[in-house]
Amino acid sequence: MRTPLVAGNWKMHGSRADNARLIEGIVAGLPARAADCIVCPPAVYLPEVGGLLAAAGGRVLLGAQDVSAESHGAFTGEVSAAMLKDVGCRYVIVGHSERRTLWHEDDHRVARKFQAAKSHGLQPILCVGEHLGERQAGRTFEVIARQLGAVLELCGPMAMADALVAYEPVWAIGTGMTATPGQAQEIHAFIRGRIAGENAKIGGEVRILYGGSVKPGNAAELFAMPDVDGGLIGGASLKAEEFLTILAAAGR
Ligand code: PEP
Repeated sequence: MRTPLVAGNWKMHGSRADNARLIEGIVAGLPARAADCIVCPPAVYLPEVGGLLAAAGGRVLLGAQDVSAESHGAFTGEVSAAMLKDVGCRYVIVGHSERRTLWHEDDHRVARKFQAAKSHGLQPILCVGEHLGERQAGRTFEVIARQLGAVLELCGPMAMADALVAYEPVWAIGTGMTATPGQAQEIHAFIRGRIAGENAKIGGEVRILYGGSVKPGNAAELFAMPDVDGGLIGGASLKAEEFLTILAAAGR
């Protein structure tokens, strides 16, 4: 049985005061039988948010939004997996479409980031997803297979144990357009099948999140799909009430 999980990607939002208010609101409203819950603040706030989460009982876990593929050295501005681990992160998003698009991260770099995270005991949340033009051209499966394949090739199928995959169609991120439950299920089943083809046990156990304009009004129908194990939430994770409603929809 896969425990559902909801992760909030705060992107480049927040301040020390905003973060404290948001955490307070989330912790105060956590449902009794919640799905696993993660927040991913900007890197500079990770230690402080980690401290707030620990002081509030540790039911909400800490994740980072990105990690360097390099281990240490002359890489100005980069943050290593060891550093993330050192400040209390348990999870890290890799290959978010904003990083792939705006910072030109290719599949190999994303796979190296995944490898760096795993080698320091972090649980990567690997984002995959197609652009609108790719979907319209009927290339969705090819794109997802390529993105996932790069990680499987570099790291091997065993590396997917304890990792998560987030299917985030690029056309649905921050746009208000959401994949239908049927569209999400189709791709999630494909991802699970691809991993199960390498290792049936890991394929059955890996948690696959949906991301792309998940809101309180559409979360329940998306999370009701058999291969959708929760969500990676952007905009709606910045409002405690909305995030909590989504979290409650994932609890089952
Ligand atoms: C995201 O950034 O991962 C995301 C899914 O954003 P939003 O929920 O705002 O579409």
